[in-house]
Amino acid sequence: MTIRTRFAPSPTGYLHVGGARTALFNWLFARKHGGVFVLRVEDTDEARNTEEARQAIFDGMHWLGLDWDEGPQVGGNFGPYYQSQRGEIYDRWFAKLVAAGRVYEDGGAWRFRFDRKPVTMHDLVCGEVTIDYRDESNTPDMVVKRSDGSYVFHFVNVVDDLEMEITHVIRGEDHLMNTPKHLQLIEAFGAKPPQYAHIPLILNPDGSKMSKRDAGAAVSDYPRQGFLPGAVVNFIALLGWNPKTEQEIFTLTELVERFSLEQVNRSPGRFDLEKCKWVNQQHMIGMSVDDFAAAAKPMVEAAGLTIPANFTEVIQAVKDKVRLFSEVPAALDFLLNDDFSYEDEAIEKVRTNATATALFGALADAFKDIPEWSADAAKAALTTTAQAAGAKPGQLMFPLRVALSGRGHGPDLGDMLNLLGQNRCVTRIRQLMSMI
Ligand code: GLU
Repeated sequence: MTIRTRFAPSPTGYLHVGGARTALFNWLFARKHGGVFVLRVEDTDEARNTEEARQAIFDGMHWLGLDWDEGPQVGGNFGPYYQSQRGEIYDRWFAKLVAAGRVYEDGGAWRFRFDRKPVTMHDLVCGEVTIDYRDESNTPDMVVKRSDGSYVFHFVNVVDDLEMEITHVIRGEDHLMNTPKHLQLIEAFGAKPPQYAHIPLILNPDGSKMSKRDAGAAVSDYPRQGFLPGAVVNFIALLGWNPKTEQEIFTLTELVERFSLEQVNRSPGRFDLEKCKWVNQQHMIGMSVDDFAAAAKPMVEAAGLTIPANFTEVIQAVKDKVRLFSEVPAALDFLLNDDFSYEDEAIEKVRTNATATALFGALADAFKDIPEWSADAAKAALTTTAQAAGAKPGQLMFPLRVALSGRGHGPDLGDMLNLLGQNRCVTRIRQLMSMI
């Protein structure tokens, strides 16, 4: 039997991280088992659905690399894949309920007659959940067709899962309590239900429920902030799936190999944007310098900086120091440009460093006199200058870093000395002298 999963978003806003995770788990499960991943757009609520929201879902999934085998744009044998275009199919299935005597009219609407018995579902994540339909006051017969002729979510969702031969329904825990209703409908149709797996909620670090307004909620914000799609997928996978090893960094291929529904947590996932940035950094560190440079280039250009001939070397120096591609321009601007800014705090530290104020002039002269410039030659000159004055070379390291870059943290000192070259290093030491 071919495994068929689906992602069934309602296009009422942008693609939310929670939706992306549902899509990812369905995608991973299908890919792992050589199955089919279907995208179905649940757009029956015309008033709330927009073209823009539809596009945001497609764009978000493309960016994350979650390709679908059937659905909008690609077609398939079970279409149309927009619920708004499936009216005839719903009418046909509704007629089955009428023929079976399972629906009755009530004030213009049609209600589905529940079978009055306990219904137990066996969820692959949540275990057994039972709803007792014997008490009618708690479980009144549900409307499946409204008086305006439209069908409710439960009905179209179930019909589509059956029509599209979905074998595994993986969706958010907010739908857990809907599932016994769905099982009632499926039984009334005389069909075999898919397997269900309800995945836990996503909470903010403070334990509150994640909302659409929280930072990081919209997948569309990630590309321009300089996240890598593979890193975001990695991070989202960990929101609810436990790899059961110390390893936290996974490629998409590794995720496909390792993913299993048994390892989906019962307890909610915690959304932590800082963790996402850390995961991103690990993926950035894992990139080749050429791939990194190609990815960073547009961001550097957009910041108004000119790409130099030795861009790859510049990138090599900053590559492991940033968490996001959007941080790259600020991390390297002083290597490309003489017009960079100084951190007040760093300058203040140099100002109160007596060794630096006393020896900066001598250091600039020593740098100027180096016959053949290299980072090693510059470091040797720094050591000689410090020792001649009875100071420790280490005391000049931080001030030199501030002189060269304007800041207290950044690339390796040797990389900066190499990349800036003799004249710029001398000028920058003198420049900082004039400021303290
Ligand atoms: N359109 C529903 C939603 O977005 C789909 C639920 C399901 O996956 O069955 O919540």
